[in-house]
Order: sequence, then C-alpha cells, then structure tokens
Amino acid sequence: MIISSHVGAGALVGMATRRPGVALAAGFLSHLAMDALPHWGLGPNTEPLWLPIAKKDGVAGLAAMALLTASAPAGARVAVLAGMTGACLPDTDKIGRFFVGRSPWPARFDRFHEAIQNESKDCLGREVAVAAALTVLSAAALRLWSASTRRAIG
Ligand SMILES: [Zn+2]
Repeated sequence: MIISSHVGAGALVGMATRRPGVALAAGFLSHLAMDALPHWGLGPNTEPLWLPIAKKDGVAGLAAMALLTASAPAGARVAVLAGMTGACLPDTDKIGRFFVGRSPWPARFDRFHEAIQNESKDCLGREVAVAAALTVLSAAALRLWSASTRRAIG
C-alpha cells in the first residue's frame, strides 16, 4: 500500500488514541491491517518499476504528515505524529534495502510483512484516491478538533 494511505490512517489513529505510545503501536498495527486489504503493488524485487511511484508517494506522504501535524490541536500533535510514524514504520524495510542494502527489521518480520500483502498491479488510481480521501478526511477532522479545542479554551 502506498505510504500516503498509511499516513492518513495513522493521523486518525493518533486522533483516536491521543496518547503517543499507544498511537505509535496502534499506527504500526494499522499498517499491517491495511497491507492485508487489496491494494496496488508490484510484488517483491520489482524496484525499477515502483521506484518512480515511491519517490512521488514519499514526497506526498511527507507533505501530508506536515499538514496533518500542523492541523492537530497543539496538545495532540505528538500523538498524531506518533500515529503517522507508527503507520509508516513497517515500510522502512524498503528504505533500508534501497539505501543501505538491508531491512532494519528481523527477517521473520519481513517475511510476515511480505506474506500479508494483497497486491494488484491494476489499482494504483484507486489507491491514490483512497490516500487523498484519507488525507482530506484526517485534515478536516483535525481542524475541527483544533477549532473546538480553541473555543473551549478561550
Ligand atoms: Zn507495508
């Protein structure tokens, strides 16, 4: 699943849990649950094919993380950021393999992560739409929460 989808879901996890440690763990689990859903992917060892998409997705995901962190109420920013970070952590295997030639995770976890994938080559458009919808939904929910927090304070 593209990382931008995990970012949007992780923000919602952080919003729901409101505690950074819990958000980090729940975000991590959300990643695994989402990877088991049907999503775009090209399978293992297809780096030349997915790399151009991964670059765009990485930039979009970082931009979404910045937007969603800024949209959160000040007292919840760490939890929201932790939820998004946890939701992205499992895919650091790809970053590790690309930059240093190995995953930061134990081989057993990498095998599990690969085994749960439910990928199809034909649904990239749908996945981008899901990522955009999750980002917009999360940003709207966080801004509403932020506005209500400000009204309650002052
Ligand atoms: Zn994954």
